[in-house]
Amino acid sequence: MRTDTDYIVIGSGFGGSVSALRLAEKGYRVTVIEMGRRWHPETLPRSTWDVRHWIWRPRLGLNGFFNIRFFRHVTTLHGHAVGGGSITYGNTLIAPPPKVWRQGTWAGLADWEHIMPRHFETARRMLGVNENREPGEADARLMAMARACGLERTYRRTEVATLFAGEGEQPGAERPDPYFGGEGPARRTCTACGGCMIGCRYDAKNTLDRNYLYLAEKRGARVLAETKAIDIRPLGAADGRDGYAVTCEPSLDRLGPKRVHTCRGVVFAASSVGTQELLLRMKDNGSLPRLSDALGNDVRTNAESLIGVRYPGTSDDLSKGVAIGSGVHLDEHTHVQAVRYPDGSGTLGLLTTVMTLGAPGPRRILAWLAALGRMMATRPITTARMLLPWRFSRETVILLCMQSLESSLKMRLKRRWFWPFGKLLVTEGDDVPAFIPEANAFAVKGAEATGGVAATSLIEILFNISITAHCMGGAVMARTPSQGVCDEKCRVFGYENMLVCDGSVLSANLGVNPSLTITALAEHAMSYIPEAGVSSPGRTAEAA
Ligand SMILES: Cc1cc2nc3c(=O)[nH]c(=O)nc-3n(C[C@H](O)[C@H](O)[C@H](O)COP(=O)(O)OP(=O)(O)OC[C@H]3O[C@@H](n4cnc5c(N)ncnc54)[C@H](O)[C@@H]3O)c2cc1C
Repeated sequence: MRTDTDYIVIGSGFGGSVSALRLAEKGYRVTVIEMGRRWHPETLPRSTWDVRHWIWRPRLGLNGFFNIRFFRHVTTLHGHAVGGGSITYGNTLIAPPPKVWRQGTWAGLADWEHIMPRHFETARRMLGVNENREPGEADARLMAMARACGLERTYRRTEVATLFAGEGEQPGAERPDPYFGGEGPARRTCTACGGCMIGCRYDAKNTLDRNYLYLAEKRGARVLAETKAIDIRPLGAADGRDGYAVTCEPSLDRLGPKRVHTCRGVVFAASSVGTQELLLRMKDNGSLPRLSDALGNDVRTNAESLIGVRYPGTSDDLSKGVAIGSGVHLDEHTHVQAVRYPDGSGTLGLLTTVMTLGAPGPRRILAWLAALGRMMATRPITTARMLLPWRFSRETVILLCMQSLESSLKMRLKRRWFWPFGKLLVTEGDDVPAFIPEANAFAVKGAEATGGVAATSLIEILFNISITAHCMGGAVMARTPSQGVCDEKCRVFGYENMLVCDGSVLSANLGVNPSLTITALAEHAMSYIPEAGVSSPGRTAEAA
């Protein structure tokens, strides 16, 4: 059957960009469908107060790239852009410890500890990972806190995907392609403005549109930005061996015309939540009925908690450096990183308040009100400075705390009483801890030792809901369709030429920032796709 293109890749984040490049290199015609916009250094917002260019909520006229989704058990943070989460991410890239390959539903499916190192090496090279060379005042404060807790030996500068100035080189200077032997774009070096997470306006962060996706487009891959995939169904045979029809609509103007693209194969790379939602809807509406019933199971976060220490009135500027500059390990399971937003980006300050310890629920809310009252009575100026958003990024070390302890949620489509118009994506399962006692104790002790005030988010205190930028799983790898959605090569059970290559295939709790692992797994999945024109036996035949 003739199709418009060979492969359609849905989503242009880590998994999608790797897939687009490797498929294009193998000689396939590739079309990438991306619902976010294409950004350039000069169009990115200057601060988080520019919500129209920062937040993604098109129905409210907010056409930025940073999305917040609220679920019963967790609040998730995402990037929507050409380049996916890389436009807004903190560019810290860490390989997980080898033990993760022995946990979760991927354990024993492949000799991971032998296979994966070469893919991690490729991912690190392609993304330009190196050690942070611009530690700032926030990192110095994290070190001081670690020292106060006897943890200074665990302090490390992060590994980041940033181009730093060399010895004697002016920060912000232009360099001809430093990564791909002249095939890539010219770049600029980091100015340590702390702005990685609102989009790098200096072209120093190695976003995917500067590496994988850039090279994919050079090899002919077509990227359709501001385009949302809304339906995927087999063209002929029910297992998709004759190809697929992918229906799309404009993402910023939902009244715009729908278009159908046909292809031989589909790669889902719409992120953990995006791919789950799309696949759950396709299973629910009968477009892809053979999808595993395990879809939506084993959704994990890094059990993150966003806390911090604020130094009201400090003359130091804690906003300088790269977004995530350093980290310390509190114990085997708990990792804390020093995070910052650029000067002038104080919106997060609106959600920040003084930290309160103790059991979650109404008692913690009362304890928080009491602590706030006490502080106002004893240190009114400090309290006022602490609560005002102005100078938040100059005065605060945000602490991103992650735990590798096992816990998981389910995602399902459900009709809710407050939304009779259709089914909504919801979470089910046990609460994700919003409160990591070890991390809070570290912040309190660290704040005392360094003259700051320990801080936490209002969402955690009022609703006891964890916030995660690292939603993973939901279409996990497994031995059989009863346990997972894909096999160890990321091929979807029940369908031919259909893969999932994004955070939804992560099948254990990594305990570290996930993007490097997603990139390496996409490299792994793509390494099994034959060159164009070379036929593969197909999943079903292979299994037989
Ligand atoms: C503020 C922030 C900071 C972060 N910092 C780090 C960090 O320092 N290190 C780290 O490792 N990770 C970090 N992360 C997490 C990281 O961004 C994600 O783990 C990563 O981007 C996930 O990669 P992915 O390939 O699964 O999908 P994504 O990179 O999320 O890409 C998915 C893409 O698919 C698109 N899409 C979704 N649905 C559709 C559809 N129906 N049709 C068309 N397109 C669709 C989306 O618009 C998006 O662009 C951070 C995240 C946030 C929000």
